[in-house]
Amino acid sequence: LGSKIAGALHRMTESTVIDEEVVDQMVKEIGKALIESDVNVRLVFEIQKKIKKGVDFEALPPGVNKRKLVQNVVFDELCNMLDSGKEPYRPKKGRPNVFMFVGLQGSGKTTTCTKMAYYYQKKGWKAGLVCADTFRAGAFDQLRQNAAKVKVPFYGSYTETDPVQIAREGVEKFKSEKFEIIIVDTSGRHKQEKALFDEMQQVYDVLQPNEVIFVLDGAIGQAAKDQAIAFRATVDVGSVIVTKLDGHAKGGGALSAVAATQCPITFVGLGEHFDQFQQFEKMSFVRRLLGMGDLRGLAEVVKSHGLDKQPELMERLTQGLFSMRDMRDQMTNMMKMGSMASILEMFPGLSHSQLSDADGQEKFKVFLFIMDSMTDAELDHPDIRKIMNASRIARIAKGSGRSSREVGALMDVFKQFQKTFSRMKGRMPRNPQDMQKMIDPRILKQMGGAG
Ligand code: GDP
Ligand code: MG
Repeated sequence: LGSKIAGALHRMTESTVIDEEVVDQMVKEIGKALIESDVNVRLVFEIQKKIKKGVDFEALPPGVNKRKLVQNVVFDELCNMLDSGKEPYRPKKGRPNVFMFVGLQGSGKTTTCTKMAYYYQKKGWKAGLVCADTFRAGAFDQLRQNAAKVKVPFYGSYTETDPVQIAREGVEKFKSEKFEIIIVDTSGRHKQEKALFDEMQQVYDVLQPNEVIFVLDGAIGQAAKDQAIAFRATVDVGSVIVTKLDGHAKGGGALSAVAATQCPITFVGLGEHFDQFQQFEKMSFVRRLLGMGDLRGLAEVVKSHGLDKQPELMERLTQGLFSMRDMRDQMTNMMKMGSMASILEMFPGLSHSQLSDADGQEKFKVFLFIMDSMTDAELDHPDIRKIMNASRIARIAKGSGRSSREVGALMDVFKQFQKTFSRMKGRMPRNPQDMQKMIDPRILKQMGGAG
C-alpha cells in the first residue's frame, strides 16, 4: 500500500503542471491502493472527497507547494481514519495494573500476552503472567514456556479446570507480591460463540481488570470490525492489539476497521518473536504508509546524502567518531531532501518524540542557525560536549539569536546522534546497500507489512 500511494504522489511530482487532472488521477490511484489493501470502500470515497476538497486550486495563492499540500491532506485523512477518538488505559507505576486478554483462538493472545509482559519488564516494570485458559489442551504449557523464555514469572495449573478460580488466585498472588503489570491470558474459541462470551464475562466480573485488551488477527482485514464490535458488546473492551501485521496486505483494513469501532489500538504484533511488538503510533504508521519513511529506499537515501561519496566520513563513523560539523553536514543534506523525520526513523535508536514531529524542518533550521555560530574548534572537536560550558552556550545563543535552552536542546540531539553512531562503531557499512541490513529488523518487518 505504502509504495502505491507513494508512487501516486511521486508521479504527481514528476508532472510539470499540477492541475485538477493530475490531482484527479492521483486521487484515483490512492483510492485504488486503499481498496486493494482492504480499506472499506465507503471510507475510501470519503477520503477521496476530502482530498479533493482539501486541495482547492482556485483558492491557492501562487507559490504554494501543491504536492506537499496534497500529501498533507492525504496524511491528515489517513490519520483521521486511524483515530479511535479514545484514550487507552495507561498503567501506573507502583500499583497493580490488571490486564485481561480476550480474543478468538489463534488470534495471538498467548503470544501477545508474553510480548507485552516482556515489553514492560524491559522497561523496568514488575510483570507477571496468569494462564486462565483451561479450555485448550497445552495452553498452560505454552504460556509457561513463553514466560520462561522471557524470564517473566507466571501462574497456572495443570489440574484446576475453572478459569475463574485460576484467574482470581493468580491475580491475588501477584498483587500480594507487589507486581505492577498483571496479565491474564484467557481461552479463545474458534467462533464468537456463547460459551466463550459467558466465560469471558465471568472472569471479567471476578477480576474487574483495569483494562480488557482484545487481540485481533490483522490478517482478517475488514472483518475485524464485526469481531471487535461483538467482543465489545460482551465485555468492556478498552483497547485492541492487532497481531500478524508482518507480511499482510490487509493490515490497513484491519487497523482502520478497528479504529472505526472507537477502540484505540495500543500495540501491533509484527512476528512470532517476543520482541516483534511495537507501540502503535498512528502518525508514524501513516508516515510509513505514505512512503515518507520508506526503508526500501534507504540505499538511495544514503546515496543522495552523499554518504557513499564521503569515504572520510564513513571512515570516521566506523571508528565511532562523529563531530558537530558532521551533524551539521548531515542536517543540511537532510533539509534538502525534505523528509528528515523519515530519515531519522531509519536510524536505530533515535527517539521519535524528539525528532519526528511535523515541525522537524523548522527545528532543524533553528539548529543550523545555532551551529553557524559555533567556532571551527567547536564544530570539529572530537567530543564537543566535553568543552561545552555555560559561557560557551551563552555566546552561541547570543550569536545565533536563539535561547540558551535551544542551544541545550541541540546538544541533546547531538548526544543522541553520537550515541547512535557509537553503537554502530565498527559495524558501519562501507557500502550503502549494506546500510539496509543494519536497520532494526522490526522496522523492516513493519515496512513489509505496510507495503
Ligand atoms: P491464541 O490462540 O490467541 O493464544 O494464539 P497464539 O498466541 O497461540 O498464536 C497463534 C499463532 O499465531 C502462533 O503460531 C503464533 O506464533 C502466531 N502469532 C502470534 N502473533 C503473531 C504475529 O504478530 N505475527 C506472526 N507472524 N505470527 C504471530
Ligand atoms: Mg492461547
